[in-house]
Amino acid sequence: MGYFQEVRCIRCGRPLGENDRYYEGCPDCHQAGVNSNWTTVYDVTGAKLPGQNGEPGIYRFRDFYPIAPDVAPVSIGEGNTPLLKLERLGREMGLSNLYAKDETRNPTLSFKDRLCSLVATMARQQKAPAITISSTGNHGAAMAAYAAAAEIPCIVFTVPYVPDCMKTLMQVYGAYVMVCPTAQDRWTIMGQCVRELGWMPASGFQSPPIGSNCYAIDGYKSIAFEVYEQLGGEAPAFFAAPTAYCDGLYGIYKGMNDLKDMGYISALPRMVAGESCGTIEETLRRNAKAPVNVEGSTQVAFSVGTTLTTFQGLEAVWKTDGYARSSTDEEVVAMQKRLASREGIYAENSSVLSLLALEKLAKEGVIKPDDKVVALITSTGMRDPETTAQYLPKPPVIQPTMADLRAALKNSYGYSL
Ligand SMILES: [Zn+2]
Repeated sequence: MGYFQEVRCIRCGRPLGENDRYYEGCPDCHQAGVNSNWTTVYDVTGAKLPGQNGEPGIYRFRDFYPIAPDVAPVSIGEGNTPLLKLERLGREMGLSNLYAKDETRNPTLSFKDRLCSLVATMARQQKAPAITISSTGNHGAAMAAYAAAAEIPCIVFTVPYVPDCMKTLMQVYGAYVMVCPTAQDRWTIMGQCVRELGWMPASGFQSPPIGSNCYAIDGYKSIAFEVYEQLGGEAPAFFAAPTAYCDGLYGIYKGMNDLKDMGYISALPRMVAGESCGTIEETLRRNAKAPVNVEGSTQVAFSVGTTLTTFQGLEAVWKTDGYARSSTDEEVVAMQKRLASREGIYAENSSVLSLLALEKLAKEGVIKPDDKVVALITSTGMRDPETTAQYLPKPPVIQPTMADLRAALKNSYGYSL
């Protein structure tokens, strides 16, 4: 099992007991009025990051996941995504060392592949009869693909407002997609299937939420390891991720912790939550000890449009003296266009919340111009191009004459010949 030791509650440290269910959160903390996820604990003292070792995808780091040595990993080439220096956007934002970890290059075009790969491997290890998930898209598409590769049935519960493209993706990978009337409905039925049928959950289904499968969140540790290597053997000063239930933020934080425990880095990066509705930001502002519910909604960043975050997300921010900044839909669509047109990365709307949070912190003087900062770009804009098109000029139709071309360039794009 590599360096894996045990599972404990993030909040109170209670070890996962025989009668505890890892997918239901800690009962002691629930009694105390806070829903907290469990987390895996490793002893990496004296451990080294492996070089190329013949393992596929994120499994180069398999000793840092809770999988048995005799289990074949389920991989379709996830991870090893580029870390790109954003020269032009960085200049605009006043940051000379701004990087994007471009997770749009994963097999199903989002960072969720790292988590879902591990869910599929865990399901294979535990001989689960099926995998189930509640998702608005990326998570479900990724899980469907990895369940297919593992030859395990996958049942996805989703909601009506998810774009058709997302539903198509989930179905084409072979998942059985069910649309439930409300978010709570999908959690209710999913929970029943997990408890009664022994299906392995790939997402959370608790209310208030706790986050996803605590074993599989470790797949995100690979982002921290890769970024450390890609920066030439150091951690950034700030690491921003778009957040809803904060699996990614927490998983990256865990990977950075491993690097610190192994002696590779002396300090953790400050973790930054890029939000839509601002639940972490409000929790920090009130100095609350548990997630605070906020008002708010989003039309464009629907995949992270939660108004209530998780304890695990707060933990990652608290333990690193981190920050959270929220952004409006207008700021999101503007940044999506800026990132694509300046740097050639077409990201999902919600994905640019990380960049927006960094830009705000730079303007406030929290981030210094030379600080090394990394923004996680979680998924591709190809998920919802119809929304993007609404914010772009309609391509003009022209006759093949220089006069027409000149006029159309000027009128539609403001470009003068
Ligand atoms: Zn607890």
